[in-house]
Amino acid sequence: MHLEFTEEQKMLRESVKTFAEKEVAPLAYEIDREERFPSESFKRLAEMGLLGVTVPAEYGGAGAGYTEMCIIGEELGVVCCSTSATWGAHADLCVDNIRRNANHAQKKKYLPPLCEGSRIGGLAMTEPSSGSDVLSMKLRAERRGDSFRLNGSKIFISNGPVGDIFVIYAKTAPEKGAHGVSAFIVEKEFPGFSRGKKFEKMGWRGSPTGELVFADCLVPAENLLGEENKGADVLMSGLNTERILLGALSLGISRGAFECALKYAKERIQFGKPIAAFQLIQSKLADMSMEIELSRLITYRGAAMADRGLTRELNLIAAYAKLFTSEVAMRVTTEAVQILGGYGYMKEFPVERMMRDAKLQTIGGGTSEIQRLIIAREILSAK
Ligand SMILES: Cc1cc2nc3c(=O)[nH]c(=O)nc-3n(C[C@H](O)[C@H](O)[C@H](O)COP(=O)(O)OP(=O)(O)OC[C@H]3O[C@@H](n4cnc5c(N)ncnc54)[C@H](O)[C@@H]3O)c2cc1C
Repeated sequence: MHLEFTEEQKMLRESVKTFAEKEVAPLAYEIDREERFPSESFKRLAEMGLLGVTVPAEYGGAGAGYTEMCIIGEELGVVCCSTSATWGAHADLCVDNIRRNANHAQKKKYLPPLCEGSRIGGLAMTEPSSGSDVLSMKLRAERRGDSFRLNGSKIFISNGPVGDIFVIYAKTAPEKGAHGVSAFIVEKEFPGFSRGKKFEKMGWRGSPTGELVFADCLVPAENLLGEENKGADVLMSGLNTERILLGALSLGISRGAFECALKYAKERIQFGKPIAAFQLIQSKLADMSMEIELSRLITYRGAAMADRGLTRELNLIAAYAKLFTSEVAMRVTTEAVQILGGYGYMKEFPVERMMRDAKLQTIGGGTSEIQRLIIAREILSAK
């Protein structure tokens, strides 16, 4: 098993790291405090060609893979989880989904503006009464000639308050349960589409989260993504790569908190010595660095498998990566706050924000409990 990055991937990491440190980090505190979308960074990500990472050049993208996607998500996550999350909702949840499942005409219409950043994307599956049990969704799509009429709502949608184009899932044949779900590409201009509430959050505050409302919303039949009633396949096709990318984001958060704690531990003097000289602090730093290394291994192993198209094997690895890295991010950020003591609890240092951001990693994209259920299912059904 090779986990060596290519020269191109190393160069990509360097350029995203430089951009993140110089341009994203200075905004992290402000977008968190003001709960605002990082439009400056989004524009720059577009200029750098990082909004359509996996999209072939003919549709305006970079033609790269999931390893590159993870490198970007990780490096942005080191300095600002919100920027990484809002970019991921666009580049992975919306753009990569369209790249994987759309027909040529849909790709030609939607991918170029999404890749150049003139349109912002998102993906909507969650509803007020269906989260983990996502296929019990109620949003109804009824065929009316050459259109579908949608009624219902979606909640907790990343980029919901600012997005222009959404991949959404609705029931086209409710009596068929999971076999009656279809996916659609919906533009914010479609009649009957509106935005509901924008949520106030504990973390991920610079990644706006909102409600989408569909009141007799008319969606042209040509905007069906994949086949009618095969939406569950479209939905499942994205969950594993989303979980790998969330692993990269968790890894980034852990690294950011660790780097801050390590520097602080070397500089903070108590009892006449740097606190890094105390073995109880060293023990924390040792565990943090070990868990970060393991997060890196499982995340990039998953990314490499996704790049090789090992879809079936990815179910287990993606669940491992999502579960492990998110729980590590929670532990590492909590310990980082502890190492900084009272300063760790203040907004002058980024670790309190990182701890708040890390919590969502154990919830969004499938909770830790659901990842454990997937892992159990996979190991119990293995032949
Ligand atoms: C900031 C943020 C951004 C998000 N972005 C998006 C987005 O862009 N698009 C989108 O579609 N959704 C998004 N979500 C929704 C997210 O994916 C869901 O919140 C998540 O899947 C959990 O669903 P739920 O909140 O309804 O919790 P529930 O499913 O109601 O779960 C509540 C608790 O019960 C547990 N539980 C549920 N079922 C079981 C079971 N069978 N066994 C054991 N325990 C169980 C869960 O693990 C959890 O602890 C976002 C959420 C947040 C908070």
